[in-house]
Parts: sequence; C-alpha cells; structure tokens
Amino acid sequence: MMEHVFPTYARFPFDLVKGEGVHLTDNHGKNYLDFTSGIGVCSFGYSNEIIQNNVQNQLAKIWHISNLYESQIQDEVADLLCNDDQLAFFCNSGTEANEAAFKLARKYTGKTTVLAFNNGFHGRTYGSMSLTGNPDIQKGFAPLVPDVEFADYNDDQALELIDDNLAAVILEVIQGEGGVYVADKTWLTKIHAACKEHDVLLIIDEVQTGIGRTGTKFAYQQFGLDPDIVTSAKALGNGTPIGAMIGKKILISAFGPGSHGTTFGGNKLSMAAAKGVLQQLTPEFLNQVQQKAEVIWQKLNAEIKPLVAVNDVTGLGFMIGIHLNETTDVNEVIEKLHDQGLLTLSAKHNTLRLLPPLVMDEDDLFEGLEIIKKVLKKA
Ligand SMILES: *Cc1c(COP(=O)(O)O)cnc(C)c1O
Repeated sequence: MMEHVFPTYARFPFDLVKGEGVHLTDNHGKNYLDFTSGIGVCSFGYSNEIIQNNVQNQLAKIWHISNLYESQIQDEVADLLCNDDQLAFFCNSGTEANEAAFKLARKYTGKTTVLAFNNGFHGRTYGSMSLTGNPDIQKGFAPLVPDVEFADYNDDQALELIDDNLAAVILEVIQGEGGVYVADKTWLTKIHAACKEHDVLLIIDEVQTGIGRTGTKFAYQQFGLDPDIVTSAKALGNGTPIGAMIGKKILISAFGPGSHGTTFGGNKLSMAAAKGVLQQLTPEFLNQVQQKAEVIWQKLNAEIKPLVAVNDVTGLGFMIGIHLNETTDVNEVIEKLHDQGLLTLSAKHNTLRLLPPLVMDEDDLFEGLEIIKKVLKKA
C-alpha cells in the first residue's frame, strides 16, 4: 500500500473507510470507538446532520468562487466566530492561520522578533515551523525564519525576554503536540501583563484547544486572557479544511487589500461546515461538554492516575494526556488499544493523548476509559 506516497507519516496498517456517530470501521470490517476525532477535528462525530446538510446544500449551489467577490457565508461564519471587537481572516489549516498571525504581527508592529516556547507546536510551513519549539520538527530545514526566540513554558524567565523590541508572543494555553501540558494561570497572567506593558501582541494558538475542546469556545477564556490574535483550525470545519486568524479590529491597518490572501481560504464548502459547527456550539452544548468532562476526570483521577504504568494525567475538558512511565511504550499501548477496538493518539514525551468527539455520551466515554485501564494494567 501507498507505494507512490512520500512516507512522511508512520501509518497504522488499516484504512478507516466509514464513520457513524463516534464509531469507525476499517477496510477489514473491524469496528472502533473513536478517542481521536481525527486529531481533534471531528468534534461533532462522523455523521452530524446539521453539518452534513449544510455542506450538501452548499454543494448543490456553488462549490468555489474566488475571494474577489463578497461572501455572505464568510460574513456569517466570522460573525459566529468573532466578538464585537474582532475580525477574521480565513485560510485552510492551522499552520496557515499561524502564518497569517506572524505576518500580521510583524507588519502591524513594525518589529520583527517573536517569542515562542520550547515544546510548543504551531505547524509545518516555514513561519509556523520556525515558531515551533521542537528541534526534531526543524531538523534538516535550516535556515529558518530569523528573529524567533524561545523560552521555557511555565517559566518566569520568559518575562525577562518580553521588552519593547518584541513584536509578539505566541503560545498555546495547553501544549497539545508537546504532551498536553497545561499553562499555569498565574504565569499566563504575568505574560499577558508584560505584553500589555511593552506593546507586544499576544497571539494564542487555539488550533487544537479551541472550538469547545476544553469546555469553552476557546480555552483562553478559562484563563482570563484578552489576546490580540487567536488562531483556529482543526475542529472549526469538523473535517473540512479550514483555518482562521482572528484579530482585534485595531490591527485592520496592516491587513488591507492585497496584503495577504489565499485561493481556497474562506471557500463556501468549508464555510458551510463551519457554520454548522459554530451554530451548534451553544452555551447549552458547552455546558454538557463541561458536565461530561467532570465525570471523566473523576474517573481518570480515581482509576487511571494511580496505575503503575501512569506517571500523571494532565489536560482540561476533552483534551487528555496520560503520561506513561519509561517502561511503557506509548506506541505499543496504542496498538493494543487498536486490538481492543479503541482509537487513541500519542503526543511528545511518551504521552497517550485522548481527544474524543465532544458529542460522545458518558457510556461510550466510560467504555473507552475501561479499555485503557485494562490495557494499562497489563502493560
Ligand atoms: C495541529 C496544530 C497546528 C497545525 O495545524 P495544521 O492544520 O496541521 O497545519 C498548529 N497549532 C497547533 C496548536 C496544532 O495542534
């Protein structure tokens, strides 16, 4: 299989050919319960009627037209996505959203240097990769985009690097790929204050944490922050390719006509899907996510955390990192979970990462956690 595809991914030897609700079927007919949502993408599962209808209706009307014309559906999605003081730029992925943020921050401030964090992840294109604090991801691709500095996450030394010469600070409030590490609220408050003091833009990458994943529309809302720029992607289109860079209205002067663009960004099919996602991301829905999260975290703390194979369990809401000990290899655990009909993910530092669809009910969530408990007990 896949003889004519660059082997940039270490793939498991099966193909998921069908999805229904929160269950998937592979090409051998084996069924799985999904604790991945793609990688935090299909938060409304694989057969959400509203999203499916929106895309199908749009498909019947018009698939594509350029950004040379007004778009009512972009307006509607931007309206659902932004608050009264924000504007959106639509693109096709997380890395593109961060590219847009990087470009906007430099152009608006007239400064060049951006502070990012070790262990962070912002994407694979040159700008976003240059902001990604992971040498494994950057290896072989030098020279990178200049004027990017790194500091340790949750470490006060970062504060000393925030001065008037800085254009922006970019961070995730929970480092996803890095191992599901949650930022300390007090530390974030200090970073935020230092940015304000020195006219440095605060960019929060919500590509993985956003769109309800942690129980609120964006995770930063739970940390009392007021970022200048927020980036979104992954779950925003529930599987259609989409990204968004959301910035405060004051930044408008740097992103006028001709300053930035993309052929497919804001395309009507992805917009139709995003509209369906955002319409369903109501306070009532988020409340349910929070309630289910409370129940699963009780179980995680009571039954998973004490296991010998587990060093710690970290995360927030439906974003969970089970940190395995040195003798328990995460990839072996993932394969054993496949055998038991459960799909899971890994993250850096031997972390078993769980990103179940937000629509999963308590019974399925419990069933998945029971399977993990059983496998980890034997690991
Ligand atoms: C996945 C991810 C990205 C990159 O998104 P792509 O759509 O893969 O380009 C950027 N930032 C964070 C935090 C991510 O989790």
